[in-house]
Amino acid sequence: MEELLRQIFDKLLSFYGSQEWWPGEGLEIAVGAVLTQQTNWSNVEKALTKLKDANCLSLTCLEKISIGELEQLIKSSGYYKVKAQRLKNLIKLLSINSDPSREDLLAVNGIGLETADSILLYLFEKPHFVIDSYTFRIMRRIGIYSGRNYSELQRVFMNNLPKDIQLYKEFHALLVKHAKNSCLKNKPKCDMCLLRNNCIYKTKKNNST
Ligand code: SF4
Repeated sequence: MEELLRQIFDKLLSFYGSQEWWPGEGLEIAVGAVLTQQTNWSNVEKALTKLKDANCLSLTCLEKISIGELEQLIKSSGYYKVKAQRLKNLIKLLSINSDPSREDLLAVNGIGLETADSILLYLFEKPHFVIDSYTFRIMRRIGIYSGRNYSELQRVFMNNLPKDIQLYKEFHALLVKHAKNSCLKNKPKCDMCLLRNNCIYKTKKNNST
């Protein structure tokens, strides 16, 4: 498994190059991790720009701003009422705890495993591999993991890769890139795919035609 994951990473990196991801710095990363739930990044960017334009991408402002005003600023990210409350909950934690543990983050209402790990990896630079729907899709098709359990798939990566923060960031970003570029939800571009020799999905498809 270790060898296979390494091969996949090396192929993705040599094809796509370094992704220099996640966008933003500091608190923007944590806010982005909440806003990106159930939407695409372009909608998040619009909301982040509104927060910046309103000088409200700071703990002080996000603590003070009314929930109604916050809802208006983040409206473009969708589910804005729920997300505004989640942001308030997260800001409350970060304003009293500048180095939260995974358990601290998961105790915040509305912060799930993926959001907590994104915040830990990208903001606090702690080695937590982030799993998302793109990771599930590619790993299932390649034949590495067919379940639906976040922690199980996370262990596949974390038990077989060194605890390297840059590697975790880069690998996650490359999987997102590959899922958007080739391993599409409905019509994956298998014939052109750099991972086709590692992937059982393509073989299965060919056998059924
Ligand atoms: S061969 Fe097809 S299914 Fe497999 S990783 Fe590539 S695009 Fe996805």
